[in-house]
Amino acid sequence: MIAGILSETGNENRIALLPCEAASLKKLGMEVMVEFHAGERAFVSDKDYTAAGATMADRKEIISRAALLLTINPPLNDDIKSFTDGQILCTVLNPVENNLWLEKARLQGLTVLALDLVPRITRAQSMDILSSMATVSGYKAVLEAASLLPRFFPMFMSAAGTIRPAKVLILGAGVAGLQAIAVARKLGAVVEVFDVRSAVKEEVKSLGGKFIEVEGAREDAAAGGYAIEQTEEFRKKQQDLIQQRAVAADVVIATAMIPGKKAPVLLLKETVSRMKPGSVIVDLAAATGGNCELTQNGTTVEMNRVKIIGKSDYPSDMPYDASKMFGNNVINLLKIMIDKNGNLKPDMADEIVSGTTAVYGKEYISQRVKQMLGIKQTA
Ligand code: NAD
Repeated sequence: MIAGILSETGNENRIALLPCEAASLKKLGMEVMVEFHAGERAFVSDKDYTAAGATMADRKEIISRAALLLTINPPLNDDIKSFTDGQILCTVLNPVENNLWLEKARLQGLTVLALDLVPRITRAQSMDILSSMATVSGYKAVLEAASLLPRFFPMFMSAAGTIRPAKVLILGAGVAGLQAIAVARKLGAVVEVFDVRSAVKEEVKSLGGKFIEVEGAREDAAAGGYAIEQTEEFRKKQQDLIQQRAVAADVVIATAMIPGKKAPVLLLKETVSRMKPGSVIVDLAAATGGNCELTQNGTTVEMNRVKIIGKSDYPSDMPYDASKMFGNNVINLLKIMIDKNGNLKPDMADEIVSGTTAVYGKEYISQRVKQMLGIKQTA
């Protein structure tokens, strides 16, 4: 069976598999074809792929020959016409944003494995691209804030006097937030953290952050470790307390999200107007509306000389390691579907496979996709 790695379009610098992971796929019994120059923006060459045992080809040939296609973002609409019934595509779907694309893929008979739908259960941890990419984002967000801040992060005692450490406020202690705490602490900042899930309190403390608790948060054990929406009363109380901490902070890294919903607004315009000039806010929730009222997705805005960075594509800015982590997650997912002859046989009885499969046999499969798109049909 042939697996094809297609080049990404737009501003994406990552690639679904680096040469080392392409070699791992070969070891599982698959032939690997890679589109010419596909790895260049991730700093790998065609020669690196051929040395790893892959064959280089053009896009048309790969689409016509590969049974499995691997991409980071769903391929262009034009590509869908060339796909054949039964072909398998493994990608990051974003089902709500790409619902029309998915409908076309379903009608074309494609099987779509959506990497962003891998169930977040212990057995699937090594396949979880959301955690991998959030790790990259948390790391890069802190580095970006540190490079823009007109102050040091660590405390300095020098002959030129004492410099006080920067204060970093982190909103949301999920995967990105915890990584941001670790990096900000390593750089010597004083770190304060808000989250609505009490379970993260100990993790925050163990990384050296101070957890600020707001009483009255709603939690739901059935939400699978995720946050749920809060009451109006709690939101007001939390916004007030966040305002107190934000006006004293130099940097805010905002990562608070609720799966399938708009991000909670935690930093009001009024709060930003009271922050110190020169402060930096990095809003990783920008793509889902942002945690700051002023955030604009994909751009930086400034108010009162406070920069608000609305960037949600940090993994593309660190394409080599982001692709490395992505590729390893993909290989771990494929391992549970590939038989000993190197053929991909998705078994819908496996909850990871059925949870990850958006469409198969011209039907919607994943319950989460059906919920998100309001599809009543039963699998
Ligand atoms: P996420 O990106 O959905 O949310 C980020 C953080 O924002 C979460 O910690 C959430 O509690 C917080 N948040 C939401 N609303 C908030 C508010 N109003 N104020 C402050 N904080 C708010 O989450 P994530 O990072 O993808 O993961 C969250 C959790 O999911 C993990 O901590 C873990 O329990 C679980 N998880 C499990 C697996 C697995 O088992 N495979 C993998 C990853 C994550």
